[in-house]
Amino acid sequence: MLEAVIGLEIHSQLKTKSKLFCDNLNDPQESHPNVNVCPVCMGHPGTLPALNKKAVEQVIRVGLALDCAIAERSKFDRKNYFYPDLPKGYQISQYDMPLCEKGVLRVGEKDIRITRIHLEEDTGRLVHDAYGASLVDFNRAGVPLMELVTEPDIASADEAVGFARAFQTILQYLDASHANMEKGQMRCEVNISMHEKGKPFGTKVEIKNLNSFAAVKNAIEYETKRQSELLGKGKEVIQETRGWDDNKKATVSQRLKESAHDYRYFPEPDLPVLELGKKAGMPEEAIIDVEKLRASLPELPKQKQKRFEKEFDLGEKEAILLVSDKGTASFFEHALSELMSMAKEFTEAKKQLAKLAINYLNSDLRALINETGTPVSEMRVTPENFAELIALIHKSAITSAVAKSVLAEMFATGKDPSNIIEEKGLAQVSDAGELEEKIKAIISANPKAATDFKAGNQNALQFLLGQLMASTKGKANPEASTEILKKFLS
Ligand code: ADP
Ligand code: MG
Repeated sequence: MLEAVIGLEIHSQLKTKSKLFCDNLNDPQESHPNVNVCPVCMGHPGTLPALNKKAVEQVIRVGLALDCAIAERSKFDRKNYFYPDLPKGYQISQYDMPLCEKGVLRVGEKDIRITRIHLEEDTGRLVHDAYGASLVDFNRAGVPLMELVTEPDIASADEAVGFARAFQTILQYLDASHANMEKGQMRCEVNISMHEKGKPFGTKVEIKNLNSFAAVKNAIEYETKRQSELLGKGKEVIQETRGWDDNKKATVSQRLKESAHDYRYFPEPDLPVLELGKKAGMPEEAIIDVEKLRASLPELPKQKQKRFEKEFDLGEKEAILLVSDKGTASFFEHALSELMSMAKEFTEAKKQLAKLAINYLNSDLRALINETGTPVSEMRVTPENFAELIALIHKSAITSAVAKSVLAEMFATGKDPSNIIEEKGLAQVSDAGELEEKIKAIISANPKAATDFKAGNQNALQFLLGQLMASTKGKANPEASTEILKKFLS
């Protein structure tokens, strides 16, 4: 049986104000071409790069979050190659002295080792027009780009996607990158080979152009099959770079693999070697204080998950789902702390309220979010208003049918739930007298169902209840109504 051996290389654009070596705006989404450019990022002769300290600090924070060893000394190197999107004819990157090495990220039950994380500059972008001409946009050239490389510890498409997703979440918690794959803010390259378990690794292929998690998964599955078939026929896998063609749903050969010596790496002469940590005699502004950065790390997804499990009595799967999106996790926490401050008796019902909030978050609210493509952090439902809705449901002030429509209205308008309920007269009817009146009317309008129920048909009761809900727009308290119906029909 052949097994897949997979290593990932993930590039992420860092969220800094300016580019890596000049003070142009770091805004690769800028739609007007070539506005954020200057002689430094255009590589004009005689210009000098000046390192953006914030970018270095962000990479170190990511390294710390992934249990990496942080270098005491690090340097930049020139990676030389020619391509029209590379104005200098070389990319400033890091070769043998990266900022971070030897980390680990646990995904499910498995530790995936991280070889290194280094800092480099992004390239410009080629735009191919309708007439066959190629244009170059340098807004992206010089944007800080972090590259993470894993050991070949990954064994399947699902594991690879699991790693990439977990890493994306960490970047978002650290506020280091938007890390949106569709926008090119996070880009995965997959290295994959096949071998018999226990035998040496086979020849690997590198796959580029993967701009979604689905593409990563599909490309690995495709390549696993392609390489297995080749090897099964006694043929060889060629070491090469392949691209993912999303239309053909196939990987296609791009070029034979280059190796490090093709790039003629050499130390960047215009940047001094970086000393990390506090060193005697360093000017204050040059200090990159690793221990201070360590102390500044926020609560990370794994820690939040563990805390949520304890504090709200959540199952592991439930907690993982909740923390896997930073916006959702903080919305939930904010709503819960709002609820706790509303009423004293709520503190004793904390776990119950948490459950209720999660249920609405994962079903009705999630559906609205998915339908409209609005991220949690941008939707109009505030945690305060959501907390109020959960409190109303908890106190049985509204039925779940009404809650659903109130939530939809909140989502569309940003109004608070009590206003909506008042405006539309949606408060739950639990008053026995009022319910009895309505139920009498339902029974006399549906004599057949009433007789059927008396004859032992339980479905008839559900039917009558349904009629009642329709006539009250879902406001009738279901438990109280069932009792009254049974009383009248016994
Ligand atoms: P290269 O020198 O070709 O760039 P590296 O050794 O630097 O190769 O590794 C690049 C990536 O390929 C890493 O993520 C590494 O884990 C992965 N890798 C290395 N060898 C293999 C292999 N035989 N099969 C699959 N992936 C591999
Ligand atoms: Mg690179």
